[in-house]
Amino acid sequence: MIRTHTLGYPRIGLQRELKSALEKHWKGELDAAALQETGRTLRARHWEEQRAAGLDFVTVGDFAFYDHVANHIQWLGCEPARFAFTGQETELERYFTLARGVAREVAAESCDHGCTHGDHTHHAGKPALEMTKWFDTNYHYLVPEFTADTQFSLRTDSLLTQVAEAQALGHNVKVVLVGPLSFLWLGKAKPEGATLGNANFDRFTLLPQLLEVYGQLLAQLKAANVAWVQIDEPILGLDLPLAWRQAFEQSYAQLATCGVNLLLATYFSPLEDNINLACRLPVAGLHIDLIRAPQDLAGVLDWLPAHKVLSLGVIDGRNIWRNDLAATLELVNIIHSRRPGHTLWLAPSCSLLHVPLSLRTEARLDPELKSWLAFAAEKLDELNVLKRALNDGEASVSVELAQSAAAIANRRRSQRVHNPAVAARLAALPDDADRRTSAFSVRSARQQTRFGLPAFPTTTIGSFPQTSEIRAARAAWKRGELDAGAYTAAMGKAIAEAVKCQEALGIDVLVHGEAERNDMVEYFGEQLAGYTFSQNGWVQSYGSRCVKPPIIYGDVSRPQAMTVEWTSYAQKLTKRPMKGMLTGPITMLQWSFVRDDQPRATTALQIALAIRDEIVDLEQASIGIIQIDEPAIREGLPLRKNEWKRYLAWATRAFRITASGVQDDTQIHTHMCYSEFNDILPEIAAMDADVITIETSRSDMELLSGFGDFKYPNDIGPGVYDIHSPRVPSTEEMVSLLRKAAEVVPAKQLWVNPDCGLKTRGWAETEAALRNMVEAAFILRAENLVQAA
Ligand code: GLN
Ligand code: ZN
Repeated sequence: MIRTHTLGYPRIGLQRELKSALEKHWKGELDAAALQETGRTLRARHWEEQRAAGLDFVTVGDFAFYDHVANHIQWLGCEPARFAFTGQETELERYFTLARGVAREVAAESCDHGCTHGDHTHHAGKPALEMTKWFDTNYHYLVPEFTADTQFSLRTDSLLTQVAEAQALGHNVKVVLVGPLSFLWLGKAKPEGATLGNANFDRFTLLPQLLEVYGQLLAQLKAANVAWVQIDEPILGLDLPLAWRQAFEQSYAQLATCGVNLLLATYFSPLEDNINLACRLPVAGLHIDLIRAPQDLAGVLDWLPAHKVLSLGVIDGRNIWRNDLAATLELVNIIHSRRPGHTLWLAPSCSLLHVPLSLRTEARLDPELKSWLAFAAEKLDELNVLKRALNDGEASVSVELAQSAAAIANRRRSQRVHNPAVAARLAALPDDADRRTSAFSVRSARQQTRFGLPAFPTTTIGSFPQTSEIRAARAAWKRGELDAGAYTAAMGKAIAEAVKCQEALGIDVLVHGEAERNDMVEYFGEQLAGYTFSQNGWVQSYGSRCVKPPIIYGDVSRPQAMTVEWTSYAQKLTKRPMKGMLTGPITMLQWSFVRDDQPRATTALQIALAIRDEIVDLEQASIGIIQIDEPAIREGLPLRKNEWKRYLAWATRAFRITASGVQDDTQIHTHMCYSEFNDILPEIAAMDADVITIETSRSDMELLSGFGDFKYPNDIGPGVYDIHSPRVPSTEEMVSLLRKAAEVVPAKQLWVNPDCGLKTRGWAETEAALRNMVEAAFILRAENLVQAA
């Protein structure tokens, strides 16, 4: 008998009920009891959906009011001491303090996806826990903080309550936990903690203590009659240090004594050299991700002992396409015949947290496109069909199988997916399509002749404050209350104001301010062929914040110019150069649901050509400086290092193809948000942008030293102030950052700009900060560092 389960389920609710309840609660408009009630209702509903879809277990422990890793911090009793809780706070109050800090509310910041600061408060006293991306997803978890003094203790009431809730509703419960090694790995050592002078503290040393508490937790779950615990160890898909790999065996031997059935879950990345280890651990079952790591299957079939359950992740938990059920059945049948005695379970490849909840509310989505899709609820239905086909014979679900086959066939040959012109263009792409005509030194001289910019030229990253006026106009226009003419006029006014302000401040290279853009990916996706948008396809990004990723379903092309009108309009308002502003192919790819019927590299190339055409059109319209934003280039890196080279090769080529349609005297900028670039500097350099602007102010220019050591060849604009806070930096601060920068990078290569776009800022602080920034550039110019060098 085949059984089915899910590794996790979306928690935010079909109408984003959790989001609104949380935000009301934070504003003081909803009390804790009512918030808890919302949680209970959502859990009950989601478990019922799992039961209705015939799953053999409901999954308990995946719900969270903010983030499941934060739940573990409380369950394991390791809230960082720096929060100095008095013991008077409720568990929920402490939870939100960890997640959001304790300062007064700073104006809600809805950044683009690249910036993950959100409702994090910026307070010198007690900043929130750091947030970071969960593996290679767009979900952010709260990073556990460890010091040498960290103690663990069991505080699992909220988990046990949820177990009891599910049991009371008559469900068969499987609890999900993040495994001890992954939990420890995902945390960070904080040497500045209670123990002074202990900078070399290694969080790995906390493992024995942590295991003890995990052991207690498992014993508790056993006592609560939980038959199965899914224990997630996704770090088995990473390149782990030897000590961490070796610790698995000992750790799981210890946990095995608890007597509860453990399903060790791995996902997102191939196990590779950890296959044998994963198969050998003393657990009752193993889950593998056959979507991301089909190559692991052979090894697992060889190594996994026959008495263990094998859970096959056959439904893509990271994407929204309907499963090819016939192909999946064939695969499962082969596995079955190779391991006749084996107990097989079927599941999504990973938690369904990473896809929207259901297609049920997608009334406006084109019916044909919709028939190709499966969100979380529909994925559970697919599991049900697979299970019935395998247990009761395919005849029992012939209708469902026929429907699935028809949708798959229809998508495969649809003219909406395949555009011969795009394919032909890709095939005919000359080898040198990814090279500028001349080397940087030649281009740079021509650009200097054309623009005559001073040393330390000043610019900004693109967006100016998205005022309530701008947002109200857009909302009214979308509701149909404002006609296109009035909307255009409102945007034109906002753009003119941004230009005027920049001229008054004396900035050298201006931007139009992006008033007309809702989001840097959506804005372009809406204008490109091959993209579609769901109405309600929300995916949790962090806390209450959700994103609605565009869906790339077909060959991408550009029916018409996208930004030329607005950019030319802005250029006509000033004599200074107006910088065109585009989103690059990798970011367009990374922040969308992408096709699974062709390599990501191919989709990236299609987008690259569409954006390249836009750049050529901008050049034709006399826009001489054009920025291609690529904040997502680093987050696209595969989890396994041996796959980096391949990714970086096609990703940087896609960027260069985007940028290389222009003349030498057209200047290409790129922008990337804060991330560790030091390990991929050769590839960043190979992108060959004339100017790169990066986020550096928060690391006190530390990031820049990597560029200096590497001798980054082209121009660099290290961000001189942090735009994530309303604080206005002084001129002196920025002067000192620039001097630091000039110590590691030749002064003639330096630009002066903020860290990122200004859309989340208010006008007052923006003007004040930019005024100081321009003044800082003047001071540096007077020092004549460029001539001296
Ligand atoms: N041009 C964009 C802006 O200024 C860049 C945003 C980003 O890097 N995330 O808003
Ligand atoms: Zn940025």
